Amino acid sequence: MDEEPDSAEPNLAPISVKLKLVKLDGEKLAALNDYFNEYAKAVNFCELKMQKIRKNLVNIRGTYLKEKKAWINQTGECCICKKIDELRCEDKNPDINGKICKKCYNGRYGNQMIRKLFVSTNKRAVPKSLDIRKVARLHNTHYHRIPPEAADIIKAIETAERKRRNRILFDERRYNELKDALENEEKRVARPKKPKEREVRYVPISKKDTPSKGYTMNALVRKVSGMAKKIERAKRNLNKRKKIEYLGRRILLDKNWVRFDFDKSEISIPTMKEFFGEMRFEITGPSNVMSPNGREYFTKWFDRIKAQPDNYCYLLRKESEDETDFYLQYTWRPDAHPKKDYTGCLGIDIGGSKLASAVYFDADKNRAKQPIQIFSNPIGKWKTKRQKVIKVLSKAAVRHKTKKLESLRNIEPRIDVHCHRIARKIVGMALAANAFISMENLEGGIREKQKAKETKKQKFSRNMFVFRKLSKLIEYKALMEGVKVVYIVPDYTSQLCSSCGTNNTKRPKQAIFMCQNTECRYFGKNINADFNAAINIAKKALNRKDIVRELS
Ligand SMILES: [Zn+2]
Ligand SMILES: [Zn+2]
Repeated sequence: MDEEPDSAEPNLAPISVKLKLVKLDGEKLAALNDYFNEYAKAVNFCELKMQKIRKNLVNIRGTYLKEKKAWINQTGECCICKKIDELRCEDKNPDINGKICKKCYNGRYGNQMIRKLFVSTNKRAVPKSLDIRKVARLHNTHYHRIPPEAADIIKAIETAERKRRNRILFDERRYNELKDALENEEKRVARPKKPKEREVRYVPISKKDTPSKGYTMNALVRKVSGMAKKIERAKRNLNKRKKIEYLGRRILLDKNWVRFDFDKSEISIPTMKEFFGEMRFEITGPSNVMSPNGREYFTKWFDRIKAQPDNYCYLLRKESEDETDFYLQYTWRPDAHPKKDYTGCLGIDIGGSKLASAVYFDADKNRAKQPIQIFSNPIGKWKTKRQKVIKVLSKAAVRHKTKKLESLRNIEPRIDVHCHRIARKIVGMALAANAFISMENLEGGIREKQKAKETKKQKFSRNMFVFRKLSKLIEYKALMEGVKVVYIVPDYTSQLCSSCGTNNTKRPKQAIFMCQNTECRYFGKNINADFNAAINIAKKALNRKDIVRELS
């Protein structure tokens, strides 16, 4: 489902915009809904039939060879081609009933073959009971997309089931360990008693050398009975085969299917004439968005679409409680036009004591200059404030209480807006200073950043998703404006002095940095730690040290 049509430049990920289809009258709404329903019907039909076809197949599990880091299947004679080869699965259909090789498997059950079973063409007919054309009325191109979509769903179901099975196995192992520890004195080890603890705490013998806090005897009893119930419940759920119904949310429209009328903010899809007739759909655009910010945003997008009109699009359907909305998701690939003459680098430190800090480092003058900006992290503040309001609300008699509480609980949209705003500002700074952007590579996750920063683990795990989101946003907004982005290894960016480069430094507080080198111009001064880290990040990129990725 997620295979994107062609990718010419691996560096530049396609970026997409959602344009809402507005002012849909009854006829248009009905036509769109009908088409999505037909599509979903076809996928569900195909999924069921496919499961039937594959019902009599049993995969042969290979063995994993650690030295070769590969799975090796058993070898034997194939029941169809009679050659000695690696065997893929056991086919229990009456006409075969035996083990078959990889090649024969692909010949019978490979994606290509399965597709041919369902979709007839001029030259080739298909069994009547499998013909998708008899089930739903779709555009010819879409008939060919149905089997892969159904195969994806089946794959998703299987993966979910496997995960559930593994989870149960894991839980059972843990359960047995705890049960042994509870029943057998030799299978448990006492933890050293801490001053405030009243009861002794134990761990299973296998966890002897871990820092686990352990359980008191009572807790152990509760844990064991709780786990037994949990495992039983999970097993019961496993037996109920879950069916995922495909609801039809996304339909791919090929390149040059969509015609844009930019003056009226309208689109038409001539290729789908059979279904939508001459219908023109109004989309959100500069001419019908009232807020100045929104108008600027859509004007920019319309300019991009004008330059690259024939890109692929998705038609999306979003169903909420009381209404159904449709969107055109237009996918645009930014042109690679790297500027070679940057005058410096904008170093960005994400997630120090603040949410982000951006410092411009001039390459010629070899020093930090304006623009410099440090963005505070309001998320903790929001959360405490929200907690207070929830407390007050839950005690007082307020109208629409549940609704109000519900809306308070969800602060993700606010975080989103805030991150967008900061990313926009940072890219604006880079453009103004004619600088490229350098950031730390946070893909390694918390541990790597932590090693370098020595900050509290919990605080980081809470904020990590915000940090990642922010760096991704900065990256994509920068690339859209043609600003180069460099990722560097996040080691020692906060320990080194950005002026003299020594590691003989001190951090009396999270936010303050002190250089201990007596010759340094920072000696004896309290320097903002985030400012210092941001310069180090910029310098690393300018000196071309520790570069992980470079995007332009
Ligand atoms: Zn064979
Ligand atoms: Zn120094």
